[in-house]
Amino acid sequence: MPLYDYNCQSCQNKVSIRLSYAEYDTAKPKCPVCGSANIRRVISRVRIAKSEEARMESMADPSNFGDVDENDPKSVAKFMRKMGSEMGEELGPEFGDVVDRLESGESPEAIEQAMPDSE
Ligand SMILES: [Zn+2]
Repeated sequence: MPLYDYNCQSCQNKVSIRLSYAEYDTAKPKCPVCGSANIRRVISRVRIAKSEEARMESMADPSNFGDVDENDPKSVAKFMRKMGSEMGEELGPEFGDVVDRLESGESPEAIEQAMPDSE
C-alpha cells in the first residue's frame, strides 16, 4: 500500500500514513501522533519536480531559444520570457519581477540576494 504524507494541523508533525488506493478516497485518516483528524495531505514535491523536469526536457532543444549570453542580464531576461511563455502558465509575480530586473540590467546574483528565501 502506498504511503501518503500528511501535515498534522494540531501537533504540526509531518506524518506518513499507509492507505490503500480504495481507502484513500473514503478514509478519514488520523494523526498517529496526537490522534487529530485535522490533517492535510502533502503533495509530494518529488512528483512535482519530476513533471517539471520532464517538461523542461521536452523543450530542451536549444534552437527554440537562440543564443543566451549568461553574462548579459538582458539576454537572460529575453530567454526567461520566452521560456515563460513556452511553459504556458502563470509563473507568478516573482518571475516577472526577476525578468524586469534583468532587463533593467541588474545582475542575477544581485536579484537572487534581494529575493526572499523561497524555501
Ligand atoms: Zn498530530
